[in-house]
Amino acid sequence: MAKTLFERIADKEIPAVLLHEDEQCIAFADIDPQAPVHFLVVPRKPIPSLDHLEAGDEELVGHLFTVAKQVAKAQGLRKGYRAVFNCGEDAFQTVPHLHLHILGGRKMGWPPG
Ligand code: AMP
Repeated sequence: MAKTLFERIADKEIPAVLLHEDEQCIAFADIDPQAPVHFLVVPRKPIPSLDHLEAGDEELVGHLFTVAKQVAKAQGLRKGYRAVFNCGEDAFQTVPHLHLHILGGRKMGWPPG
């Protein structure tokens, strides 16, 4: 099966501003930032979306959040940030490879659009 865009970034076939990498996931700057700090935390495993999580993925998903926290601190987000998984058509998920958005560096609106 063809690699997803984010697998190609993880394999360094497509450049990105890499903020973290380990054996389970990568984090990199979003190419179209919606806040002063906007990065994505992406498992190397090409899970298409939250809807596709399976038994056994719990530890991996927990790891994504731990990495998100570490990178947020390293990016200087001292006053908070938002963590978002867009899932499916209604949420405007555009890349079918699970990714956690972290946005910060400004006040976030609520409710989200
Ligand atoms: P979503 O709409 O939730 O699927 O988010 C996909 C995100 O991937 C968007 O915020 C895009 O700006 C981001 N994106 C798409 N292509 C790239 C890329 N080559 N490098 C970094 N971020 C990207």
